[in-house]
Amino acid sequence: MSAIVELDGVTFSYGDTVAVSDVSLTVEEGEFLGLVGPNGSGKTTLLHLMLGLHEPDEGTVKLFGRPVDDFGDGGRIGYVSQQATSRGGTMPVTVRECVTMGRFAHAGRGRLSETDRAAVADAIETVGIESLADRLITELSGGQKQRAYIARALASDADLLALDEPTVGVDAESRDAFYTLLDELNGDGITIILIEHDIGVVTDRASRVACINTELYHHGDTESFVESDALSEAYGATGQVVHHHH
Ligand code: ADP
Ligand code: MG
Repeated sequence: MSAIVELDGVTFSYGDTVAVSDVSLTVEEGEFLGLVGPNGSGKTTLLHLMLGLHEPDEGTVKLFGRPVDDFGDGGRIGYVSQQATSRGGTMPVTVRECVTMGRFAHAGRGRLSETDRAAVADAIETVGIESLADRLITELSGGQKQRAYIARALASDADLLALDEPTVGVDAESRDAFYTLLDELNGDGITIILIEHDIGVVTDRASRVACINTELYHHGDTESFVESDALSEAYGATGQVVHHHH
């Protein structure tokens, strides 16, 4: 096994607000990591630090074994931001065009080869949105958009999928189907980091859990998280734990 993400003593503040304090953890290849914590606990900030979108004030971050600031291989990472589904993107591109953009990481912006076209078609089929391929992204539901963004990551042959609350605003049935798709992708060897406010989803699906509230309260396999007091300690009196068991 090799490390996909390595954080060592990472601290980050927005002005006077310490968002992430002294977090060390490693995400191994093939893992399905659930990242949980109350609102405002630093989950999105931590994910940004992992992907090199913020520079830590202290500590170090490595991606695929390399310091994150000279990691240039963005095609290996599929990132779906917290706002992606709700905002939906303002560019009126079709699903196929959106997924094709993922392919540019390999093809460059020149002409697409047959291989590129096949990769785009495969990705669209894998997430089950063939019938939507020629629709505009802006016309899709939250769950459909989410699939389009996942397809874009797949088209680029991403090894790591990083998802920030991907099912906010998605109906329950589409959510279950979406998480089943994530399980399948993880089974195919793709490493997944999922920020999710529904603890039940995380304990059902993730192989490991990181629980934070500025500091790291727990990092380990899902069973040890369920048995620990990390959840109540991290959420304290501040947050309401969402726990829908399916
Ligand atoms: P979460 O994703 O767990 O809700 P965030 O990482 O978004 O938490 O935020 C962690 C803390 O940092 C919160 O106190 C939040 O208000 C603060 N914060 C987040 N983004 C910014 C920003 N751009 N400027 C200032 N403070 C921020
Ligand atoms: Mg967030």
